[in-house]
Amino acid sequence: MKREEFTEEKEIFEQHIRKKGLRRTAQRDLILEIFLRTEDHLSSEDLYWLVQKEDPSIGYTTVYRTLKLLTEAGLAREVRFGDGKTYYEHHYKHQHHDHMICTECGRVIEFYSPEIEALQDEMAAKYNFKPIYHNLRILGLCAECQEKAQEVITASGAQPKVRIVGRVIK
Ligand SMILES: [Zn+2]
Ligand SMILES: [Zn+2]
Ligand SMILES: [Zn+2]
Repeated sequence: MKREEFTEEKEIFEQHIRKKGLRRTAQRDLILEIFLRTEDHLSSEDLYWLVQKEDPSIGYTTVYRTLKLLTEAGLAREVRFGDGKTYYEHHYKHQHHDHMICTECGRVIEFYSPEIEALQDEMAAKYNFKPIYHNLRILGLCAECQEKAQEVITASGAQPKVRIVGRVIK
């Protein structure tokens, strides 16, 4: 397996920690690497467990602080999905996108719609509001969970909570 280099990201991180008067350490480097290798939305606990698998000597606080440094350096960004936790995803060279979150299984779907983006800008302009950042979340059920919900209904013979009542008769 070819090991990805992440040279640019490492350079950015190095510059940032130097600016903060911190030292580059093997632990921080490993945390950065694992973060960059994982194309997902991770909480600090999630990342901690991934790091633990490779180096059990790294403590949670180090992981948490390093994530904060990555965010400050513009390599990571924070996202919230409404479950009270903070997640981190790649930010550097990653196009803006929004999220659909399944409230049943926690699956996250990333999407990008130029039309929605343009409409948001239009709305902001209408209210003379200067948008800086937005995070659009759509909560609901993913395809799999919809199917499961349907199976439960069929098995129990119960009526679904929400029913789509037939067509409108003209
Ligand atoms: Zn957006
Ligand atoms: Zn789901
Ligand atoms: Zn995302």
